[in-house]
Amino acid sequence: MILPIVGLGDPILRKVAAPISPDYPNLKELIANMYETMYAADGVGLAAPQIDLSIRLVVIGFRPYDEKTETYGTATEEHTLINPEILGVSTEKNYFCEGCLSIPGIHEDVLRPVDIRIHYFDADWNEHFEEISGMYSRVAQHEIDHLDGKVFTDRVSQLRKTLIRRKVNDVIAGKYRTTYRMKRK
Ligand code: ZN
Repeated sequence: MILPIVGLGDPILRKVAAPISPDYPNLKELIANMYETMYAADGVGLAAPQIDLSIRLVVIGFRPYDEKTETYGTATEEHTLINPEILGVSTEKNYFCEGCLSIPGIHEDVLRPVDIRIHYFDADWNEHFEEISGMYSRVAQHEIDHLDGKVFTDRVSQLRKTLIRRKVNDVIAGKYRTTYRMKRK
């Protein structure tokens, strides 16, 4: 089932989301709905607060880019992160142009650590400690920010913040168009 996506301006995107336990009701179905919602909106990551649930749950799905052949793979790489925590970050950082399904029409370069070490549980409640890099690391950092009430536009330079202020305020006011369904106030 495709769920409506919450837009910037909704207070749920500014809350610190709560961890969940293995007895959380209908978790598998919720995760399936989040993947369906993300792909229907052409997203590569979705955090539960974006579908109006303040819990620490993230889905990620993208086709890996092969630098050598300069093509995207056909198989989708998927990661379900339950109660994820960032344990450490690399000193090396890079810029990557990010967007967000909750902030339609805005894309900005964001500086983040290249590699991170994370701890999380997967959909079967297996525990993982992983060092991750590339697209996975980038999307995981963006989505874990959502669980802490942060969005990518918080992380752009003061100058860019000033330059995009009107566009951000338009999103907050509900003045945007999307090809996917948003939860309207
Ligand atoms: Zn986002």
